[in-house]
Amino acid sequence: MDSDFSSRIWADKDKLLRELETALSRSFVRGDPLQRTTKQFAERMGVSESRAATLIHTESAHAAAEATAKGYKETGVSEYQFDASLDLKTCAVCGALDGKTFPVSARETGVSYPPIHPRCRCTTVPVTEFDAGGQRAARNPETGKTEYVDQGMTYEDWYEKYVAGESVEKSTESAIMGNGKQRNGGAAVEKTQPACRSLGELNTEYLEKRFGKLQTKELIIMDERLEHIRQRHPEDVELFEQYGADCALNPDMVLVDEKHEGTVFMVKHLPDTNLNVVTRLALDIDDAGRKNSIMTFYRIRDKNLRKLAEKSELLYKNE
Ligand SMILES: [Zn+2]
Repeated sequence: MDSDFSSRIWADKDKLLRELETALSRSFVRGDPLQRTTKQFAERMGVSESRAATLIHTESAHAAAEATAKGYKETGVSEYQFDASLDLKTCAVCGALDGKTFPVSARETGVSYPPIHPRCRCTTVPVTEFDAGGQRAARNPETGKTEYVDQGMTYEDWYEKYVAGESVEKSTESAIMGNGKQRNGGAAVEKTQPACRSLGELNTEYLEKRFGKLQTKELIIMDERLEHIRQRHPEDVELFEQYGADCALNPDMVLVDEKHEGTVFMVKHLPDTNLNVVTRLALDIDDAGRKNSIMTFYRIRDKNLRKLAEKSELLYKNE
């Protein structure tokens, strides 16, 4: 741990940060290779190239971590889990933090929130009632092993998906959302991408009739949500990329999720199946600054959609 280094970054080195920001955004716009950016930045700041590279890596990680924290606030995530999976082998400090959970309100950069040290590659994941700690254990009937499924998934859907469901070929890369990589391929630049993306504005009329005034019409999804789902259900992410925004902005059916506060199922009929986008609304009683956010999504077959509709309050139906 290089405390002099840390203070150079986290204290009031305004010029450094401004220069870095300029260098990064310029290189991003032009698609410069990271080495060139590093070289230019080193020259401007009068430091060695390796030092400049470390600064760029660490500051980019910091910016990404701050964007994630902002996303936590907007989506109402109150707790996060430290994920040192990349740093586990190399750093004992981060290894010890791995898997631990902390309240977002008490996060401390460099102590309990990344980056912990220069070139720290650690990240965090939100702990929500829709997954992580809230993941539901289910036994895979084929292997007999316990697997974890999203809590937003009903037993019926789980059964359809893993027991009766057809297997869908996994996609490796998506065309629309991309896989997070930019054309210049620089890891540092890639991390400056926003943690949340805005999908448009919800029709709040019937939602407000049921839930009271909403803080905003804006609908967002955290990149982490997409990644999280992509890792386990890439075929669902593919459908989401094609129809997700339309599903939430122009749903065929909207139902109340009776198990989660302020949450609705927004369903769209697709050619072969239906897509259910589970959205937590930004209620007036929530902390200020919240946005309507997609917590999870999954395919739901007609039969299971009928069952879900039978036990859920109907808010909207496109006849
Ligand atoms: Zn680390």
